[in-house]
Amino acid sequence: MLKLPIYLDNHSTTPVDPEVFEAMKPYFLEKFGNASSRTHSFGLEADAAVKYTRNQAAKIIGADANEIYFTSGATESINFAHFGIAQSYSFKGRKIITSQIEHSAVLDSFHYLEKKGFTAVYLPVDTNGLVNPDQLENEVSDDTILVSIMSVNNEIGSIQNLREIGRICKEKNVLFHTDASQAIGKIHFNVNDINADVVSFTAHKFYGPKGIGVTYIKNKNPKIKITPLLYGGGQENGIRPGTLNVPNIVGLGKAAEIMMKNFEEETKRIKKLRDKLAQLLLDSLEDVHINGGIEHKVPNNLNVYFEGVKSETLIMNIREIAVSAGSACASASIKPSHVLKAIGLSDEAARSSIRIGIGRFNTEAEINYAAETIIKKVKEIRKTSPAYILHTNQD
Ligand SMILES: *Cc1c(COP(=O)(O)O)cnc(C)c1O
Repeated sequence: MLKLPIYLDNHSTTPVDPEVFEAMKPYFLEKFGNASSRTHSFGLEADAAVKYTRNQAAKIIGADANEIYFTSGATESINFAHFGIAQSYSFKGRKIITSQIEHSAVLDSFHYLEKKGFTAVYLPVDTNGLVNPDQLENEVSDDTILVSIMSVNNEIGSIQNLREIGRICKEKNVLFHTDASQAIGKIHFNVNDINADVVSFTAHKFYGPKGIGVTYIKNKNPKIKITPLLYGGGQENGIRPGTLNVPNIVGLGKAAEIMMKNFEEETKRIKKLRDKLAQLLLDSLEDVHINGGIEHKVPNNLNVYFEGVKSETLIMNIREIAVSAGSACASASIKPSHVLKAIGLSDEAARSSIRIGIGRFNTEAEINYAAETIIKKVKEIRKTSPAYILHTNQD
């Protein structure tokens, strides 16, 4: 028997892997030491656990352990990167560049920097959700200090041309930051391949706990200087002070370990499920569109526009299937998704689209059930949708 509801919103967060949870448990109870208290075994075992995760976190992105800084999540990591770079490098210039489809953590910190006198450029994207590297190259001027472009989009799953973006930044001597929150565990990601200077990601997008993230800060050729957001104890080289969240850090390390072990098998399996779901929807329904196309996407993403079907109505009618309209952070608001607008959808189309994120624990039976339910409900809703009836009569 299928267990309901079915979770298909893995871009918003992922469940903690039971193995991750087991690994974390002792660090709440017996091994509760402060990782900075190296005068006794409690502190030493906590410190050893942190060291282990620092190595794991470095390994998954091809970095060195001394380039890893633990934060409270991607939001903090992104703010830390942007504000830290803006402060440290404003002597060089005050122009900063990003894209129109970033997560609100990037867009809002850019808006704040604009208020502080920086000039921000928001690059458009094509219908696949991709930034044009030539356009980026043209925008980079002598006073540009930062390019922040996400690796993988959280709504439509588009994978940017990171190598090319990194190459341009390196050639033009501009710092390259990337929000890799949706990339870890979905694509091969290596900071050296893409010339990234600063990277942000978060454990809860790859089956780790919420509230723990990483900022990678390049340590050589050249060493990147970032002004801290916080002041306090000397933790994390004094750049990110505060008592380390050891249980969460242990969870991040375990999640990284499991991700690396299963990467090839898991991405293949999830892609098969995603492709099957897309096929079922396209075969059984008319006037269905995959937003952003399917070729430039990570394997777990499907963002679908059903003509004549408001996403709120659909979501209300498929309560046993957890999907979202747009991103989690925006789903409380009624504004159409800025990402879908940026790839060229009308307000109407953007409001008739849902995001599906397939994950590690989804089964083929769940995908079949989800497809069946969605198809049935879309047909029902369309029968009473004036917009859709009008549109089909015109054809
Ligand atoms: C989830 C997510 C974030 C925010 O991460 P938190 O750890 O929840 O702060 C930022 N960017 C992207 C692309 C995300 O998917």
